[in-house]
Amino acid sequence: MAGRIYFDNAATTPLDGRVAEAMRPYETGTFGNPSSLHAEGRLARRAVDEARRFVARLINALPEEVLFTGSGTEADNLALRGFERRGAQPPGPIVTTAIEHPAVLETCRHLQSRGAEVAYLRPNADGIIDSESLRQALRPATRLVSVMAANNVTGVVQPVAELAAIAHGHGSLFHTDAVQALGRIPVDVEAWGVDLLSLSAHKIYGPKGVGALYVRKGVSLAPILFGGGQERSLRSATENVAGIVGLGRAADIARLEAAEDACRLVSLRDRLIDGVLNDVPNAYLIGHRFLRLPGHVCLGLAGQEGEAIRLLLALDEAGVAVSSGSACSSNHAGEPSSVLTAMGLDPLRARGSLRISLGRFNSEDEVRQFLGVFPALCASLRRATSRK
Ligand code: PLP
Repeated sequence: MAGRIYFDNAATTPLDGRVAEAMRPYETGTFGNPSSLHAEGRLARRAVDEARRFVARLINALPEEVLFTGSGTEADNLALRGFERRGAQPPGPIVTTAIEHPAVLETCRHLQSRGAEVAYLRPNADGIIDSESLRQALRPATRLVSVMAANNVTGVVQPVAELAAIAHGHGSLFHTDAVQALGRIPVDVEAWGVDLLSLSAHKIYGPKGVGALYVRKGVSLAPILFGGGQERSLRSATENVAGIVGLGRAADIARLEAAEDACRLVSLRDRLIDGVLNDVPNAYLIGHRFLRLPGHVCLGLAGQEGEAIRLLLALDEAGVAVSSGSACSSNHAGEPSSVLTAMGLDPLRARGSLRISLGRFNSEDEVRQFLGVFPALCASLRRATSRK
């Protein structure tokens, strides 16, 4: 293989050169603190405000509804913990799903340890949360529902607008973790009718360590960080100006180019899926065939589920970066994926997934090269497995 092929865009995306260029001045010369009143401070404030407008425009929100955070994880924490801590009430029942990213799941477990009742919806075999299961899980006192827009393991896209309407009909607010969805499918807070939405820069060709939370006007949250009162007192800390500028630029590029990227990626993704299912006899696709992110493929290999890590390392040696499950899974290598278990896959099958996620900088030629090596690697692994 000529150069390395990066097929792990769901874990993180490369920084777009145009984003790096926009950030550069704020990493060196333009170093002011946006809270300072002097010219250096005002320049930094202007850059932060402009980035806020870019992010707002991408998701069809008002600029004042966008709060910058240090990550998608922090945005999820602020949404859920900030909601539960508002006012004097004890934490109320929450409905979420068993397939959320740990940033939501672990936050819900923390809230449970503080007395909140949490219901975890399970998806159907295609990885989709259906509206009837949400209706059944709602309790009279439920005030918050959190369902991710697209899953980080399977790439399956959820019917967010439909689920949000059900939550609202019940008098609950609706949060969605759109970290994987943003820049890949249209994300529109008005069309979806969501009240809180989390996003992260490093999944849209922006820098790591910066995210944002959309908070619909009128929704009240309590801070989880206390200090100098930045970001409407909801996220105290001196702003990461260069990072925020990067997120803003990445959002603006996504607004202009995401639809075109998506068309190209759907066709590359489908070629990859068809190629693998044709040439690897025991391969199967995990998650709905079409209701999935452009560029996102999640595969299993029947009878070889225990060998997913070995296959990942063989691909790595051949020059292709993919992932098993999610990025966080290197901390839990070999454990079944809770997302796949929740979809009803047995624990052995749930250990064996391979996630292949294409992005803006991948080419047709790379997919062709991948299809040139993958079936042979699977075959040699099958031979090794059958000799055991
Ligand atoms: N939510 C989802 C669905 C994700 O895929 C990720 C990252 O993988 C996160 C949240 C966390 O975002 P960050 O890495 O910015 O903390």
